[in-house]
Amino acid sequence: MRTLTADLLVLGAGVAGVYGALAAEARGARVLLLSKDPLPSGSTPWAQGGVAFPLDEADLEAHLQDTLRAGRGLVEEGVARSILEEAPRHLERLLAWGLPFHPEPTREGGHSRPRVRHLGGDRSGLLLLQGLLARLRGPVLEGHLAASLLVAGGRVAGAYVLSPEGPLWVRSGAVLLATGGLGRLFPVTTNPPGATGDGMVLAWRAGATLRDLEFVQFHPTALPDGSLVSEACRGEGAVLRNARGERFMPRYDPQGELAPRDVVARAVFAEGQATGGVYLDLRPIPRLEERFPSVVAQARALGLDPLREPLPVAPAAHYAMGGVRTDPRGFTGLPGLFAAGEVASSGLHGANRLASNSLLEGLVLGERAALAALEDLAFPLGAEPLPAPLLDPGLLPALRARMGEAAGVVRRGEGLREALAWVQGLPLEEGLPGALEARPRLEAGHLALLARLLLEMALLREESRGAHFRQDFPQPGPEAYHLEAQGTSLRKVPVGV
Ligand SMILES: Cc1cc2nc3c(=O)[nH]c(=O)nc-3n(C[C@H](O)[C@H](O)[C@H](O)COP(=O)(O)OP(=O)(O)OC[C@H]3O[C@@H](n4cnc5c(N)ncnc54)[C@H](O)[C@@H]3O)c2cc1C
Repeated sequence: MRTLTADLLVLGAGVAGVYGALAAEARGARVLLLSKDPLPSGSTPWAQGGVAFPLDEADLEAHLQDTLRAGRGLVEEGVARSILEEAPRHLERLLAWGLPFHPEPTREGGHSRPRVRHLGGDRSGLLLLQGLLARLRGPVLEGHLAASLLVAGGRVAGAYVLSPEGPLWVRSGAVLLATGGLGRLFPVTTNPPGATGDGMVLAWRAGATLRDLEFVQFHPTALPDGSLVSEACRGEGAVLRNARGERFMPRYDPQGELAPRDVVARAVFAEGQATGGVYLDLRPIPRLEERFPSVVAQARALGLDPLREPLPVAPAAHYAMGGVRTDPRGFTGLPGLFAAGEVASSGLHGANRLASNSLLEGLVLGERAALAALEDLAFPLGAEPLPAPLLDPGLLPALRARMGEAAGVVRRGEGLREALAWVQGLPLEEGLPGALEARPRLEAGHLALLARLLLEMALLREESRGAHFRQDFPQPGPEAYHLEAQGTSLRKVPVGV
């Protein structure tokens, strides 16, 4: 068996993985960075809006309050405060590295002030990631898929990897999971094809805790193919109308088009059901083509012209607030395993992510997790890969349709129960494939497992909070709690514990 060794193995080359790898390299560590897709990969290069940074000392408190408000009682306040306090240091560094942040911040939904810094119009994520990748010293192994973690005596010691040249064992002193989200669990999503929640399943099977998977943010304004019309468009004056041509958002929230995402997504869903469609009118935005080139290009690719007509939009699965539970340093609680970025649940987002807080989290936690990992490197003997879940990928369209119906913007106990029974009946197998051709079976296996866990959590959470809306329990419950799955146990855990 081919074997490589590294101090730190970083799985994933989005913002969290690359920024973490840079921090570890700066400390002189031997870092190995893997991406299952060719670069630039993941959701990061698709991000349009930008990165939310507090404007100054005085704005820090306001940014925190906006984050807490969006998170509906489930934000870990200490974690959020510490991330926002650290944010200016990272912005300064990125500016010193020459990243072309626009000097004027924009305002996005849920933010009380304009504080989102964008790059290159709406190419924020791409330019950010390219700027980071350019500074890496070590190579990124592209087309390398981590199929399982190597584990010895309760410690994570590397990964079993499928590469174009066959299977590979990477032995490492620690592993940083930065594999991104799970949007591909849903039929309409803004996420790239690789967003199949791999890291969450790898971590859970190794014994780490998954938290709050039921909180999936639905972006309110996706085009019919799932491509996104950035929230920044609404910040700059775009208006939502129903099929009767009526502007409806002010009826749902005093902040109108700039209400938090969950509110806008439910309003778009309800108006779509009631009137037969919802449209986003971008024509009020001055210099539209210059300001939002990607949005205009995406619409045109679908035969739509945003300069002349409002665009048909609908909610699409966009961001996983839940994930691998970590402490404020990105430690999962499982020796040798750290997580950062969308794969993780650090406590910043609670029940609903505030727009553009996620790239910021990727930066801050990516660095913290990498540095924490370097403090505890160990190379145990006898590490072995765990078996991976496998499913016939031909079942994925049906799985996604079930998830869209039962666990979309609006949920009901009955629908969730039916979907869960169906998912439990899927012919999930276990194994350790030896070739990259098994990728679709592995990803389908990951999605089926995550579907089960997400549905279990959505059923147990008999309340509506943030992105989780239950028609049969439309109000938030009296106590805010997290849901945590470890092995076969699913527990309610009070916030702040
Ligand atoms: C369309 C869109 C627009 C967005 N806009 C914004 C925005 O404006 N501001 C903001 O803050 N957030 C935005 N977000 C969210 C944000 O982009 C993501 O949350 C963030 O980029 C996630 O970064 P990450 O490093 O955690 O993972 P990703 O960037 O998703 O990277 C995941 C990496 O893991 C790799 N990987 C996955 N599985 C494996 C495996 N098994 N083995 C090896 N490698 C693997 C992938 O190849 C990839 O390199 C947006 C998201 C989308 C989809």
